Amino acid sequence: MAEVLVLAEHSDGSVKKVTTELLTAARRLGTPSVVWAGPGVEEGRARLAEFGAAKVYVADSADFADYVVAPKAELLAQLVRSASPAAVLLAGSAEGKEVAGRLAVKAGAGVLTDAVDVTAGPDGAALVSQANFGGSVNVRSAVRQGLAIITVRPNAVAPEAGAGAAELVPVAFEASAAAKAARVVSREAAAKSARPDLQEAQVVVSGGRGTGSADGFKVIEELADALGAAVGASRAVTDAGWYPHAFQVGQTGKTVSPQLYTAVGISGAIQHRAGMQTSKTIIAINKDPEAPIFEIADFGVVGDLFTVVPQLIEEIGKHKG
Ligand SMILES: Cc1cc2nc3c(=O)[nH]c(=O)nc-3n(C[C@H](O)[C@H](O)[C@H](O)COP(=O)(O)OP(=O)(O)OC[C@H]3O[C@@H](n4cnc5c(N)ncnc54)[C@H](O)[C@@H]3O)c2cc1C
Repeated sequence: MAEVLVLAEHSDGSVKKVTTELLTAARRLGTPSVVWAGPGVEEGRARLAEFGAAKVYVADSADFADYVVAPKAELLAQLVRSASPAAVLLAGSAEGKEVAGRLAVKAGAGVLTDAVDVTAGPDGAALVSQANFGGSVNVRSAVRQGLAIITVRPNAVAPEAGAGAAELVPVAFEASAAAKAARVVSREAAAKSARPDLQEAQVVVSGGRGTGSADGFKVIEELADALGAAVGASRAVTDAGWYPHAFQVGQTGKTVSPQLYTAVGISGAIQHRAGMQTSKTIIAINKDPEAPIFEIADFGVVGDLFTVVPQLIEEIGKHKG
């Protein structure tokens, strides 16, 4: 079977969920080999084995932390030369996309971004589904010449376990001087929220201009906490300073694809839809029955959010009780 490289996303030895999704997609194309850049592989190895990694190429170098994304692209290019994989899969994060672009240039390969599904085509090569133009057009693409480099949107592929040996293969790697042009000089840990990560969450509750103010937006946080969900926001909210920009969903914000997306007081502009349209189930709460968000909602409530949401929170509480 052809080898398929998967760049692991990990933090302090903990394998991020998107890596298990990439391994699931990679098994459809061939035998997955994980590429682990940096320390922590001993802690992460069991999880990689659980999701079918046959090999784990390990390059434990401080360069990956110190020099942003360029060393990762060089490491992958080195492994592409030595292993001749059928495809390389990366997370559809900002970092994953940048590494993919750089790798494509180095390897003379084709790159497909934001895949919402990956399957093997009739010839066994990767066939990628993408949701374009704010999700209004679905396309299927394949790289016709050379290696396929694919970034997969987090939460788009349901992770399925599949045993693998996760054999550790140490890789000698040294970043070039060019890859060391930009160095990280300091780090500040983001304030840890008890809520799940927006792009990895199974449930997202997003609020829009309908919340009226930063104070009004608190009802979104309350609903999110009742559901164990991540909080998202429309650009109208982040531009107004009611909630931080890091939580903006949409074309110029984060792309999410949770099992459940609840849009509260959001009209459903095309730029907002671009970031959430591939959610599995969409609930909309809006006082305007003509709001465009209802066109894509699976379940809609027409009403004032300040009346509907507290009732919803109360009902969720009763069910939990
Ligand atoms: C280049 C570009 C990029 C953009 N990128 C993004 C992006 O990444 N993300 C994004 O979100 N937007 C983006 N936008 C902005 C986008 O076009 C919309 O302006 C924005 O999404 C509107 O946010 P909203 O739905 O919260 O506000 P509005 O469009 O004002 O909608 C508010 C909704 O709340 C409802 N409402 C009001 N009061 C209540 C109430 N009490 N109860 C229930 N419902 C109520 C209203 O009926 C209305 O439907 C972008 C725009 C451009 C030009």
